[in-house]
Amino acid sequence: MDCLFCKIIKGEIPAKLIYQDDKVVAIDDINPQAPHHKLIMPKKHIATLNDLATADNELIGHMVQVAKKLAKDFNIAEEGYRVVMNCNAGAGQSVFHIHMHFLGGRPMMWPPG
Ligand code: 5GP
Ligand code: ZN
Repeated sequence: MDCLFCKIIKGEIPAKLIYQDDKVVAIDDINPQAPHHKLIMPKKHIATLNDLATADNELIGHMVQVAKKLAKDFNIAEEGYRVVMNCNAGAGQSVFHIHMHFLGGRPMMWPPG
């Protein structure tokens, strides 16, 4: 399968690995939009949020728990951080393997662009 993030997960394309366990990987975003900009993704290939099955609920919950852990590790849990998942091109999804953006280390505006 020609998927950039599957290749990163397999180690075929280099990336700065921040965290991994049996279910997920977290890497530095190549084009950071904040002092802390990480991508938390499942090892399993799922193209978009629309492809999630009910059986993936635990996996998505686990990704949120990893975001919580990163915030604690970066010491930004109290000041605040943002998690974002873009679904399909109209929302800005450019890599079709689901991933949670973890953004922190600066004030976040609302609404996002
Ligand atoms: P999306 O636009 O799909 O929500 O987010 C994709 C993210 O992947 C973007 O923030 C982009 O900077 C990042 N990205 C694209 N290509 C690479 C890459 O080769 N390595 C890493 N680490 N991040 C990438
Ligand atoms: Zn993939």
